This record gives sequence, C-alpha cells and structure tokens, in this order.
Amino acid sequence: MKKIQMVDLQTQYERIRQEIDNGIRQVIESATFVKGPQVTAFQEHLEQYTGVKHVIPVGNGTDALQIALMGLGLKPGDEVITPTFTFIATAEVVALLGLTPVVVDVDWETMNMDIESVRRAITPRTKAIVPVHLFGQCADMESLMALAQEHHLYIVEDACQAIGAKYTFANGETKQAGTIGHIGCTSFFPSKNLGCYGDGGAIFTNDDELAARMRAIANHGMVVRYHHDMIGVNSRLDSIQAAILDAKLPHLDEYIAARQKAAAYYDKAFGNNDKLLIPGRQSHSTHVFHQYTLRVIGADRDKLREGLAERNIPAMIYYPVPLHQQKAYLDPRYKDGDFPVAERLAACVLSLPMHTELDEEQLKYITSNVLELVNN
Ligand SMILES: *Cc1c(COP(=O)(O)O)cnc(C)c1O
Repeated sequence: MKKIQMVDLQTQYERIRQEIDNGIRQVIESATFVKGPQVTAFQEHLEQYTGVKHVIPVGNGTDALQIALMGLGLKPGDEVITPTFTFIATAEVVALLGLTPVVVDVDWETMNMDIESVRRAITPRTKAIVPVHLFGQCADMESLMALAQEHHLYIVEDACQAIGAKYTFANGETKQAGTIGHIGCTSFFPSKNLGCYGDGGAIFTNDDELAARMRAIANHGMVVRYHHDMIGVNSRLDSIQAAILDAKLPHLDEYIAARQKAAAYYDKAFGNNDKLLIPGRQSHSTHVFHQYTLRVIGADRDKLREGLAERNIPAMIYYPVPLHQQKAYLDPRYKDGDFPVAERLAACVLSLPMHTELDEEQLKYITSNVLELVNN
C-alpha cells in the first residue's frame, strides 16, 4: 500500500507532469516572471469557471481577505463579524486593519456560521460579515444575504477551502462559493483544492468599481503608473504559480469528484457508528471536502489520533482553539463558554486524510483502523 498522507501532491503531480512542466518552462524561457501572460490567461479561465465577472489574482488567501476589507473602505472601529471556529487568517486581517472582529458561534452539524448568532451580533457599528465556507461546504448564504440586505452590510466570503462548491438558492439559482457575496476570497496554498506550488490567492467580485479599487490596492494603490491614489500593498500571483494553476484548473472538477468519492466511502463506513458523527450537510450546498472532519463524541479523540499515528495514518485537528480563546485575540468582551458549539467542536473534531489520490486499499485501511480503535 502507498504511504498514507493527509494530502498526496506527488501522485497528483505525476498525473499531469507534462502540462505542469511545460507551463513552468514557458515562464522561465520567456522570463515573464511577474505579470506574465500566464496570469491573465489563468484569471480569464477562472472567471469562466466560476462565472464571476472579475477575478483579481493576489499573493495568497490572507492578502485576498485583507485587500477585500481595504477595498470596502472600512474605518477603525467598524465591526466585522466572523465565526470563532475557523483558520486564524479570517480574523487576523480584521484586527490588522484596526477593525473590530466580532466573533459568533457556529452550527454543530455544518460547523459553519450560525445565523441566529450573527443576527444577535449585529450592532449599528457592524459593516461586514465574513462567512467561512469551512471544510468545503458553503455557509447558509441565503440567510446571510438577506441579513446583509436588511442591515446594509457587506458580505466577504472566505472561500479559501471551498473553490468549486455550488450553492443553490430557494429560487433555483445556483452560484459558486466566493461569487455570492459582494466579494469572495480564495487561496491556492498547495494543499487547497486548487493548489499551486507555493503561495497564491484570488479575489472575486461582480462589482466593477470594487474590482478596480481592489486591483489598484493590490498594486500599491496605483492606477496610472507611479501615481498612487490610495494606500495599497504589494500582492501578486507570480507567473509560475499562474501557469501551474492554469494547468490544474481543467482538472478541478475531477479533483472535486475524487474527494467526494473518498468522502462517500468514509460516510458509509462511519455513518452508523454511535461514537462518530460524519460531517453534517447543508442541503443547499455541495461539499467539495477540503477536509473530511469527524466529530468524535463517544471516544477519546486524542487517543484515537495517537492510535492512528501508530498505524501510520495521519489525522489532524482543524482547529484546536477557537478564535476567542487564542492568546493574541483574548478580549474582555468574550469568556470561555460564550461559544459552546465552537468550543465543543474544538475538543472533538478530527480530520482524516483527504485528497484526490486516495485509493480503495488506503480508504479500507483507514476506515477499518478508525473503527477498530473507537470500538475498543
Ligand atoms: C488557507 C486559508 C486562508 C489563508 O490562505 P493563505 O493562502 O494560506 O494565506 C484563509 N482562510 C481559510 C479558511 C483558509 O483555509
């Protein structure tokens, strides 16, 4: 059996080696390392794939979130609502810009932002909501968009884990993750569902004015060369990463299908076990399984993880500490117990190996060992 990894990028590369190598070689031979034609080509292909009007390639997903908030022109003291159960970047950029992060609890089943908690957190200072499509499934966007409209708020989707996920509204309209709110952000970190071979990210929007502003912000606030209309940053997707992404994008749907197939295998194995809860589904969203995350409710999660490690099965805890309990983000507004679902999840989640190359032999080995360990 092939060694089991959380993510197997080597085997994935082997399958498309030719396309990737050609793309990289072209960049090197033309020496168009920055702002090369590969970046524009990938941008256009991603616009076609997602159906969004503007894709703005940037340096990474965290930059995408920061530039999005800068593009909205938010001011210090403005409140931005984020879930407390997420990767730190979501709130980090809020804090860095001098905005006030307001954290809310999540839903036990989907692990995404809980809408009632969002509603309660809205104040006259609230300016934006940043839903995270955690682990690859869209948050309840129908409710969030309605709340945003009612209270005149911006929605910035953190779609770093959910590229390609599809959300269907009650009226039957379907949109992709990251293209629903005013702005969407994604990451091309190597292990993400569409990963490059270094750092990369992108911003999505259908708003022409916002797009122009964010494009300028990502380029030192420059519209006309060496004329700086606003304070910006330097954040670009380099041409080699764009070439790699352009080679991988035509495979994204297969990659998603492979992840969904592995998830279905896990679901079947664990669905009837009373010590494990499989990921809950939102009926309006597809799940692209950036992670397959179990809730371990009838066994010791950490012992299970150790037992798996002894059998050469990696498993990870995403995320062990909610935002409101992180040292750098401790805040007198919040105390332990304020976000009971997030705290409970942090104590019981366990993500299993999930990638595009898992084969049946590996899946069988993983599931049988998980079951043996929890049942003993
Ligand atoms: C990966 C990720 C980010 C940050 O992306 P980088 O490209 O690593 O900066 C932000 N939010 C979430 C939810 C992520 O998973």
